[in-house]
Amino acid sequence: MENSCIFCKIVAGEIPASKVYEDDEILIFSDIHPIAKIHLLCVPKEHFRLLSEVTPKRAALLGRTMQKIGRIAEDLGLKEGYRVVINQGENAGQTVPHLHLHLLGGEPLGWEK
Ligand code: 5GP
Ligand code: ZN
Repeated sequence: MENSCIFCKIVAGEIPASKVYEDDEILIFSDIHPIAKIHLLCVPKEHFRLLSEVTPKRAALLGRTMQKIGRIAEDLGLKEGYRVVINQGENAGQTVPHLHLHLLGGEPLGWEK
């Protein structure tokens, strides 16, 4: 837990979130400012910021997170497809320094830089 991290606070239950899925290592909840009809944040509970900080243990955790995203997308009926995005650092617009995957879907998605 990183004291100043908003996602660590959500994981700890100190800030409310609209939770879609939770287990001991992963939390999935709705983005507070959705940019698509469905916009979920898929958060490994362990605090780290960047893919460059991934250890073998974290790689396995990220693998399970992606597997879970596939299941959730199926449960949500996203048969026409969806997008998974990981913003890394300033140029990508990463605003929360806790690695997370955006799940976007529920409508056709544009693609811009
Ligand atoms: P990033 O820009 O770091 O890739 O994504 C951070 C995301 O977290 C943004 O889409 C933003 O809307 C979302 N977010 C920021 N603060 C909160 C919050 O307190 N609750 C929820 N549910 N989402 C948040
Ligand atoms: Zn954190």
